[in-house]
Amino acid sequence: MKKFNMKNKIFIFTIILILLAPMVLVYHLKTKEPVQRFSYVEFMEKVQKEEVQSISISDSPDLEGVLKNGQNFVTDNPRLDDFKENMLVKNIEVKEEQGQYSSVQIILGLLLIISFATIAVYLSKNNSQQVSKEYDKMSNMDISTEKDSTIRFCNIAGNDEAKENIMELVDFIKNPQKYEKYGARMPKGIILYGPPGTGKTLMAKALASEAGVDFLAVSGSDFVQVYAGLGAGRIRSLFKNAKEKGKCVVFIDEIDAIGKKRDRGNIGGSDESDRTLNALLTEMSGFKGSEGIVVIAATNRLDTLDEALLRPGRFDRQIEIGLPDLNARYEILKLYSKNRPIGETLNLRAFAEQTVYFSGAKLENLMNEAAINAARENADAITEKHMDRAFYTVIAGDEKKDRSNIRSLDRKITAYHEAGHAVVTKLISPENKVTKVTIIPSTKGIGGFSMNIPPDKMYHTKIEMKNNIKIALAGRIVEELVFGSDNVTTGASNDIQKATEILVSMMKHFGMNEEIGMVNYDVLMGSYGSNDHSLVSTVKDEMKKIYDETKKLVEDHKVLIKVLAEELLEKETLSEEEINKCIENTR
Ligand code: ADP
Repeated sequence: MKKFNMKNKIFIFTIILILLAPMVLVYHLKTKEPVQRFSYVEFMEKVQKEEVQSISISDSPDLEGVLKNGQNFVTDNPRLDDFKENMLVKNIEVKEEQGQYSSVQIILGLLLIISFATIAVYLSKNNSQQVSKEYDKMSNMDISTEKDSTIRFCNIAGNDEAKENIMELVDFIKNPQKYEKYGARMPKGIILYGPPGTGKTLMAKALASEAGVDFLAVSGSDFVQVYAGLGAGRIRSLFKNAKEKGKCVVFIDEIDAIGKKRDRGNIGGSDESDRTLNALLTEMSGFKGSEGIVVIAATNRLDTLDEALLRPGRFDRQIEIGLPDLNARYEILKLYSKNRPIGETLNLRAFAEQTVYFSGAKLENLMNEAAINAARENADAITEKHMDRAFYTVIAGDEKKDRSNIRSLDRKITAYHEAGHAVVTKLISPENKVTKVTIIPSTKGIGGFSMNIPPDKMYHTKIEMKNNIKIALAGRIVEELVFGSDNVTTGASNDIQKATEILVSMMKHFGMNEEIGMVNYDVLMGSYGSNDHSLVSTVKDEMKKIYDETKKLVEDHKVLIKVLAEELLEKETLSEEEINKCIENTR
């Protein structure tokens, strides 16, 4: 049974007092002799007859008194200056009362006040304890801890430089003293940056398990709190936890949530996020390199981080984890096909070629979807057919199974639209692969797509970027030419967005427009705070020019587009080979 502590006893005692007070009052009123009211004339008569024993005078409108026979009475208080003297000369005892309340009433009042005050103190204490308990609870956030995870460096394919860099740290965590002996300062913090799904978390996990230490994972967004000081509290609790563990790897995902560049105008650092960031910086400076704690943070964008985070002694090593190149994609696909039955004819290299811009996570997803497809059919092994369908699912979502309610006109528009993209790609960017064109709609609402894969390369030229805009516009242009300008559809919205994004970035960031010149538009506008809208009209004019050039190209190849569209209407999906054959036969 729970023991009552002192505070609970006081609380119960107070409650009893409160309940008792009205009872005492009632008892007091009941036990008092019945009181008789006299008029002032009657009272004066009794005074004359010397029947009055005593009176109590006060400021109250009533005057209380007792007759010699013990009868209590009240009468009107005349409030005369010499009233007391007049009574005293008549041998009447005169008591003077300060207020209009009797001593019993005063005691009761005091009792009630003390009781309420005790309750108020009790409740407020309880409440503040509750708040501080809640605060403590919130400061101790959920830290996911893993030990002995099975992830090793051999489970990570590609990204060899990053992997080597991280592997070095295994020995450091195991023997920090060895490095200290040579005066080598190993990094306390490492930032892994790159697109999502490229294996940043995986790297950190592998480091922890190869070094045989705990892996403490949190997300930067856990520190973004509405309560002042809570974010900083959580940082302290995270590091306290890490120090208790001894050697460990602390992983902070989405570090940008706390480590965003600080506003220059807000140098004072009063802001809650500043406080959290400062707490992180203090904690990072606080532990010694020889403790064997390594903090790994991940972000999609390094350029948004505050420089203070990147200084020596903090996250002084920054490692890029980029999207996998062709070889890395092939390695990742091989890795995820290891424990799966793979058909002998399945060419993983061909799929690695098709999957430009796929992250490791997407490639893993691709293999998994293919395995699901094979399992659904009870097939002996995963074949190209399963991979093809999985590819569609990863890109566009599941194929729409019931296509009976799609209007034949909509199918036709999709076929011409996609044929337009495919033909223009083949004409102006022959180095790009068009691995697949389909008019099978997806459950996500996509009508169809033309899979356009550029070659793996470091830089993009101005002409390539312009061609990509033309490829994006081609679908809408074909719609306009075949079905009339009043019948163009909403199907081009993504294309228009993509075309605009490419064109704007060419002008704003890459100095690829004569009118805008060799300037970074954001820096220019940011420095001068100008409201220059000339970019809008320059973009519009340039887009119109590209549109007209593409229109000319489409008009010149109308027949080819028609042939491909008809083929699509018949077969729904065409492979690269089929597209090439179709083009060769028509030329
Ligand atoms: P990030 O932290 O960069 O967003 P993750 O490390 O969480 O990405 O990766 C998500 C998943 O993608 C991993 O669990 C793994 O299955 C797969 N993956 C990503 N990159 C690779 C890689 N280079 N090698 C093997 N698998 C990878």
